[in-house]
Amino acid sequence: MKIIAIGRNYAAHAKELNNPLPSSPVIFLKPDTAVLKDNKPFYIPDFSSDIHFELEVVLKVCKEGKHIQEKFASNYYDEVGLGIDFTARDIQNVHKEKGLPWELAKAFDNSAAISNFVPKSTIKDLYDLQFELKINNETRQNGNTKNILFSFEKIIAFVSQYITLKKGDLIFTGTPEGVGQVHPGDKLEAWLEGQQLLNFEIK
Ligand code: MG
Repeated sequence: MKIIAIGRNYAAHAKELNNPLPSSPVIFLKPDTAVLKDNKPFYIPDFSSDIHFELEVVLKVCKEGKHIQEKFASNYYDEVGLGIDFTARDIQNVHKEKGLPWELAKAFDNSAAISNFVPKSTIKDLYDLQFELKINNETRQNGNTKNILFSFEKIIAFVSQYITLKKGDLIFTGTPEGVGQVHPGDKLEAWLEGQQLLNFEIK
């Protein structure tokens, strides 16, 4: 499986990092070795001194497809969960300045923490999904999917023009504002529509 992630999909987050709003989705990949699951702790790697959290709604792809039309795209994911797109912001900033790719900042081991997934069929409105991250009991990110720039269907249609989607692939759909640094000892908890899906520690 692979992880496809969308950057700058919430205007307020693009703004907080001084990035322009994209006219088409900004995408990057993480390999399967990036997955961190079952609420296992995240260990801060020694190559970065500024690891950021980015809470995101994650889609699980349920069948293979390429050149998927937007009107059929909702058939290609059947589960929704939460993830943290851990980002080495110090490395990313240097690479952005130089116009270099982001992989070292985004694709490292355990950089994609994921929750259990819930069936899409149990969700009332995919575009009014409240999701929240607390660190040490303090709310740090509070997002709602009604604010995304590119819908899940647009993302799937766009990405599948270039990259075949396969069953089990994950799509990180972008983070709202409020990103920041994690520190050893931090306790991260995240909720989707009031249901706690993530609860793990930074070491
Ligand atoms: Mg992200």
